[in-house]
Amino acid sequence: MAKYIFVTGGVTSSLGKGIIAASLAKLLQARGLSVTIQKFDPYINVDPGTLNPYEHGECYVTEDGAETDLDLGHYERFLNIYSSQANNVTTGRIYQTVINKERAGDFLGKTVQVVPHITDEIKRRMLLLGEDGKFDVVLTEIGGTVGDIESLPFIEAVRQLQWELPEEDVMVVHLTLIPYLKAAKELKTKPTQHSVKMLSETGVHPDILVCRTEEPLNNDIKRKIALFCNVKQEAVIEAMDASTIYEVPLLMLREKLDLICLRKMKITNYGEPNLDKWKGFLDKLKYPKSKVTIGLIGKYIELQDAYKSILESFVHAGAVNEVKVQVVNVHSEFITDENVSEKLQGLDGLLVAPGFGNRGIEGKIIAVKYARVHGMPFFGICLGMQMAVIEFGRNVMGLTDAHSTEMDKRTTAPVINMMEEQKKIKMMGGTMRLGAYPCEIESGSLAHQVYGATEITERHRHRYEFNNDYLEQYQAAGMLASGKNPETGLVEIIELPNHPFFIGVQYHPELKSTVESPAPLFVGFIDAAKKYNDKKSNQKPSSKQDALI
Ligand code: GLN
Repeated sequence: MAKYIFVTGGVTSSLGKGIIAASLAKLLQARGLSVTIQKFDPYINVDPGTLNPYEHGECYVTEDGAETDLDLGHYERFLNIYSSQANNVTTGRIYQTVINKERAGDFLGKTVQVVPHITDEIKRRMLLLGEDGKFDVVLTEIGGTVGDIESLPFIEAVRQLQWELPEEDVMVVHLTLIPYLKAAKELKTKPTQHSVKMLSETGVHPDILVCRTEEPLNNDIKRKIALFCNVKQEAVIEAMDASTIYEVPLLMLREKLDLICLRKMKITNYGEPNLDKWKGFLDKLKYPKSKVTIGLIGKYIELQDAYKSILESFVHAGAVNEVKVQVVNVHSEFITDENVSEKLQGLDGLLVAPGFGNRGIEGKIIAVKYARVHGMPFFGICLGMQMAVIEFGRNVMGLTDAHSTEMDKRTTAPVINMMEEQKKIKMMGGTMRLGAYPCEIESGSLAHQVYGATEITERHRHRYEFNNDYLEQYQAAGMLASGKNPETGLVEIIELPNHPFFIGVQYHPELKSTVESPAPLFVGFIDAAKKYNDKKSNQKPSSKQDALI
C-alpha cells in the first residue's frame, strides 16, 4: 500500500503549493521511489474546463482527455509522467458522484450528509491512485487556503485518514508565509502561527511547515515557529524565493524536505537523489549564450497563467537551444494593418496562441500575414493554426470571405468548420475533442524534420477543424497539410514549404513538454528564431528604423 502526503496551504493563496508539491515529488522520484501527485480543488465546477482563463489560468488537458487544473501541468513537467482524470478532483465532481448515487437509490432510507457521505467519497478518491501498488507515494495537494469554508470537507477527510491509517502512512506538509516587514526589518511569524492554529482546530496537525520567505530564516526564527506551531525544528523548512521554479527541488533538497518525509513515513529503500539531467537543464537555463524575442499573440496576455504551458515550453526549448527566450506579449485586439510592422519587426518569431471566440481575431490574421510575408518564424497553436489557414485563404488564394464558422456562421468560404460529431453536442462541459490522438506526418516535411518521426500523438482541445473540402485548393496554392489523423483525415499540421519556418498545429504540443523531454516543435521553433536573429544581426541596417531593431 502507498504512503500519502497531503500538502495544504495557509495565510494566503498563490504561495506556490503546486511547485512545492511537485518539487517534493521530484526529489522522492529522484531517490528511486515511484510517485504520483493529485490535486483536490474546492470549487463546484465539475472540472475547470468551463472556467474563464482570466479566473483560473490555463485549462490543462491530460492524455486521457481530462480538463484539469494547471498545477497538473507542473506535476507532469517536473516528474515527466502522465497524469489523468483521477489526478484532479473538484468538490463539484465529488457532489455529482454522491448525488448520482443518491438518485440511484444507493443510500435508500438514509439522510445524505457532508460527513460521512461527502467525506467518504473524498477519502475514496484520495486513496484511489495508491491502491493498485503502482506507487510508493501519492502526494495530494489541497487547493485553496486553510480557513476557507469550501475546503473544510477536504481537510476533514485528511483528519479522518490521519486517524484511520497507520501513523507512518499519512503525513501533512503545510505551506505558509513568513512576511518580512521592511519598516521593522523583521520576519513575522504570527500569520503562520494563526494558520497552523486554524488547521489544528480542524484536528489536522502538520508534520512539516514549509515557509515561503524573502529573507533567510535564522535558527531563532525556526525555533520560535517550531515552539508555537508544535512541530520539530528540523521540520521548519525555509523556502526562499527562487529565480526559477525549476530551482525549487534543489532548494528543498538542501533543506532536507525529502529526507524528513522519508523518515516520518519509515521508508528505507531509497538511494541518493539522481538529479543529473535536472541539473544539466538548470545549467543551460541559467547560462544562456544568446537571446531571442518571441511575440506571443493572444487575448488573455495580461494574465501569465492563461498560457502557462506555452511559457514553460519556451523555457524548456530555450535551455535545449542555450538561448534565453524573452516572450513579449502582443495584444491581438490592438494590431492593425497600419501598426503591425512597428509592433512585430523587432521579434525573432511569432506564436499565435490558442483561444475561443471572436475577440482579437482580425489582429491575429494581420500578424500571421506579417510573419508569412517577412519570412519570420511562425508557430500557430490550435486557434493560431486556424488563423494561418484563414490568412492564407484570404490573402494568397483570393478567398476574401475565408473564415471559421466559429466567428462567422454565414461565411461563403468556411475553411475552418465545426467537426461533424460536435454539431449535435449541446452540453459545454468536457465535450470538445479532448486528449491524445495519433497524427501521421508526411515524410520530408518540416514537421517530420522537427519530430524526427512520422507517427506521433499529441493532445487536443477544440471543436473546429480544417475543412477538407478546401484541401486540394490549399495544397495547389502551396500550403501543405503535413500531418493528419490516420483514421479521419482531420488536418493536424499545416506548413508552408517556401518559408523558413511556418507551421500550425491543431493540437497543443505545449501540454507534453517537460524538463526531460521538451516539445520538439518548440525546440524547432526556437532554433528557427535563433537563425532568424543571426541573419538579422548579420544584415547591415538599411535605414535608421532597422538600426533600432
Ligand atoms: N476555438 C477553436 C476551436 O474550438 C480553437 C480552440 C483552441 O485554440 N484550443 O476549434
